[in-house]
Amino acid sequence: MNVDILFQNALKIIKEELSSLSFNTWFEELKLVSLKDGIATFQVPMAIHKKQLNNNYYDIIKNALNQITGTNFDLEFLLEDEIQSKEEAKQKENKQEEIGVPQEFKNRSNLNSNYTFDNFVVGNSNKFAQAAALSVAENPGKMYNPLFLYGNSGLGKTHLMHAIGNYIIQNSNRKVLYVTSDQFINDFININKKDDQGTNFNYVDFFKNKYRNIDVLIIDDIQFLGGATQTQQEFFHTFNTLYDDSKQIIISSDRSPDDLKLLEERLRTRFCWGLTVNIFPPDFSLRTEILRKKILAGHFEQDIPEDVIEYIASNIGSDVRQLEGSITRLVAYSTIMGGASITLDLAIDALKDFISKGISEKNDIARIQKLVAEFFQINVEDIRSKKRSANIAFPRQVAMYLCRTMTSESFPKIGTEFGGKDHSTVMHSVEKIEKEIKVNPDLANIIEKLKKDIE
Ligand code: ADP
Ligand code: MG
Repeated sequence: MNVDILFQNALKIIKEELSSLSFNTWFEELKLVSLKDGIATFQVPMAIHKKQLNNNYYDIIKNALNQITGTNFDLEFLLEDEIQSKEEAKQKENKQEEIGVPQEFKNRSNLNSNYTFDNFVVGNSNKFAQAAALSVAENPGKMYNPLFLYGNSGLGKTHLMHAIGNYIIQNSNRKVLYVTSDQFINDFININKKDDQGTNFNYVDFFKNKYRNIDVLIIDDIQFLGGATQTQQEFFHTFNTLYDDSKQIIISSDRSPDDLKLLEERLRTRFCWGLTVNIFPPDFSLRTEILRKKILAGHFEQDIPEDVIEYIASNIGSDVRQLEGSITRLVAYSTIMGGASITLDLAIDALKDFISKGISEKNDIARIQKLVAEFFQINVEDIRSKKRSANIAFPRQVAMYLCRTMTSESFPKIGTEFGGKDHSTVMHSVEKIEKEIKVNPDLANIIEKLKKDIE
């Protein structure tokens, strides 16, 4: 399909979603110029169109293109002269290509402009990580080097790293490179493939140039570097070169440097030279706030009522990706049902399969809390509260111990369910009970009995 026809079809979809005033104002003179390399480039008549389309119509256009092409394009809105200068730059690049620089190795930051500080919602669980990230963005190479971010999947590590990179390229001329550790490994492996394609392109130079001729290196999911010994060595050299030049290095991982057992000791030590920050799962209030922000940003036709937001926030665990997914699903469900209004009943129906897993995980903790409370004849609400009196604190410790040993929940997650304790408090309680079981046979018996009940 040629881009004109394709865009005509997309416009039909878009038109249905908008008032004719908005449609005529913003879409009448919009031209789709190209669909290339995952980017849809549009020509706009005036700068104000750029801003409006980016801020208010981005998702609508993206979705319409997706419906027609099945592809998720990033969108770019340019004025006519911007398109021209881009063309010229392209031609220059193409010349370079002729002397043998493969397309995939062009100088690119790999940053995703959708991830910014502006759209990162801050709460107790991530405010330290966000503040550290912003300090680094404001003073690259100076404040905390390296910055090491770690935490479970879906808590916003990648988002924060892109936000740092985007901030830096917007506010300085520094060169930023974002890669996952997989990409780093791939590039490294390519070194040994040099001249395979009969080009005069030197991969060793390419590699050194790509990874050392930069001001900021962002490397995501470093845990995957484990095992690849030679690549680790190369990374070690890269790290040292950048570090010695005061270039900023930002690393993320699903676990702390100490727990990266597959990485060489000397790398792990270096990771701790700067600042190591743990990012925790969002609590209920942050979950609701993230949901509200995503709903606002989504510009859905329908309002999503507060009780639905709370229902999602209390049933979907800590992975923000799942929170986002639940909204997408809910909206799609309502559309498929002929634009049915989004009520709590509809949400329960729409998200049935989606959150059953979440519920059972939650039930594990909830069930343990209930049984322990019954055993000690206290109120289950008290176990979930912050109350500190001994008759509650002790059963709470027992319950946390059982949650840790009998479910696969993380310390932070358990903490959230027990009055918002932080993970070190949970860890401490679990250790305390462990020790005491060994010296106190009464407690050992109680734990045994509770375990049987739970099972
Ligand atoms: P991680 O890298 O830790 O696995 P991501 O950064 O990929 O997590 O986050 C998963 C999704 O959740 C992304 O779409 C991200 O934008 C979103 N997200 C995570 N935390 C937040 C937050 N605090 N505010 C807004 N969006 C968030
Ligand atoms: Mg990630």
